[in-house]
Amino acid sequence: MATLQDMGITQNQLDSHWMAYTGNRQFKQDPRMICQAKGKYYFDADGRKIFDGLSGLWTCGLGHGRQEIVDAIAQQASQLDYSPAFQFGHPKSFQLAERITEFMPEGLNRVFFTGSGSESADTSLKIARAYWRKKGLASKTKLIGRGKGYHGVNFGGISVGGIGPNRAIFGTGVDSAHMRHTVLPENAFTKGQPSQGAELANDLIDLIAMHDASNIAAVIVEPMAGSAGVIPPPVGYLKLLREICDQHQILLIFDEVICAFGRLGYKTGAEACGVTPDIINMAKQLTNGVVPMGAVACKQEIYDTFMDEGGPNYMLELPHGYTYSAHPIACAAALASLDLLEKEHMFEQVREMSPILEHAAHQLGQLDLVSDVRNMGLAAGLSLVHAPGESALNPFLVAQQMWQKGYYVRYGADTIQIAPPFNVSAAEIDSLFNALGDSINQLSGQA
Ligand code: PLP
Repeated sequence: MATLQDMGITQNQLDSHWMAYTGNRQFKQDPRMICQAKGKYYFDADGRKIFDGLSGLWTCGLGHGRQEIVDAIAQQASQLDYSPAFQFGHPKSFQLAERITEFMPEGLNRVFFTGSGSESADTSLKIARAYWRKKGLASKTKLIGRGKGYHGVNFGGISVGGIGPNRAIFGTGVDSAHMRHTVLPENAFTKGQPSQGAELANDLIDLIAMHDASNIAAVIVEPMAGSAGVIPPPVGYLKLLREICDQHQILLIFDEVICAFGRLGYKTGAEACGVTPDIINMAKQLTNGVVPMGAVACKQEIYDTFMDEGGPNYMLELPHGYTYSAHPIACAAALASLDLLEKEHMFEQVREMSPILEHAAHQLGQLDLVSDVRNMGLAAGLSLVHAPGESALNPFLVAQQMWQKGYYVRYGADTIQIAPPFNVSAAEIDSLFNALGDSINQLSGQA
C-alpha cells in the first residue's frame, strides 16, 4: 500500500488541510488519495484503477480528461485568463449565457453566473426576495424548503435545506419553513417516480395558511433530490407545487445543481418532469466539473422587473455577484462541455442506460440490509439498515469496501448513491452492482 511518501506528501501537509465534508480524523489515518483520472476511471497512489461510480460528485458525466475541454481551457487561459466580473464583460460569458438558455425550458432566458451550486442557491433566493421588493411587495421574504432538501452550504441554502446536521451547529439562519420530504414507506422499492405522494405538495397550502402568502417569497426544491439519497418526486407532485405557487404569487425555484444537463436523461429535471419553474439553479455538470462554475436562469419577467425600475442606467439593478462570476476559463470549459453533451447524444445515452441501472439497483433490494432502493435517470440510491450490533456506519463501511474493490461510490446519511458517467456500459453497471451486493453481504456476514 502506498505510503505518504509514495503519494508525494508529508505528514504535516496531510495535517494542514482541513478537508471539506470529510471525517478528517478517519481520512488521515487511512487516506484515500486520488492521483489521476481518465475516462470513467480514477487512479489511486498505487496506480489502482477505480471506477467512478458517482461521476466525481455528480459532476463529470462526460468522463475525465476530455481533450476538447482541456484544449478550450488552455486556449482561454492563454488568451484571457481573468477578466473583472463587475462592470466589464468578455465575449465568452455572453455566448455561454445564450447557450445555456438553449438547454433551459422555454422562457428561462436570462442567466446570472456564480461559482458553485451553493452560490447558485443563495443567488436564487436573493433574486426571489429582491424581485418582490421591486414589485412593491417587500413583506414577501420567507423562503420555503423541504425536508431532506440540499441546497449547498451558504446561509440561505442551509436555512431552506432539510438535512439536520448541515444546519444544526451553525445557529440561526434565514427566515424559512419546510414542507415534508417525499420518502413514503409505501413507496419503498418503487422503480422511478413513485405514484403515491403528489398530495404532499399540499404542505405548501398549510404553510401559506400559517404564514400567509403575502410573507412568502419562494419555494425551492430539487426535482430529484440527489444528496439525500436519490429521491425522485412522486408523479404529479411538482405540477401541484407549481399550481399552488401560481395561485398564491410565490416563485418556484428548481435547484438543478445535480439534475441539469443530463443526469435524468433530459436537458433539465424540469423537462424530465414536465414542469417549468420560475428559476433554475445549476452547477456541477455545466463544466463537467472541470472548473468551478454555477449559474441561475430566470424567466425574462423577473429580469425585466429589475431592469424596469428607472433611475440612472449606471445604477446596479442587483447589488450581487462574485469575483469569479462568469470566469473566462469556466465559460470556455462550459461551452466545450455543452457541445460535447449534444455531439455525443448524452441525454439519449442516459435514457438508454437508465432501465439497465434501474434493474441492477433493484436486484439488490432483496438483500437483508437494504431497506429501500430508489432510482431516476442514471442515478440510484440504496438505503441501508444497521447490521446487528452495528451503529449507523453501514453506508460508510460499504463505500470503504467498494473503494477496496475498485469502485468509488458515495455514502450520505443512511444511503449509498450511484451516478455513473453518462456513457457507462451495461457490463460496467453489472460489475458495479455485483461489487455493491458483495460489499453489503460482507457487512451482514452473508458473504
Ligand atoms: N444544490 C444542490 C441540489 C446540490 O446537489 C448541491 C451539491 O451537491 C449544491 C446545491 C451545492 O453545490 P456546491 O457544492 O457546488 O456548492
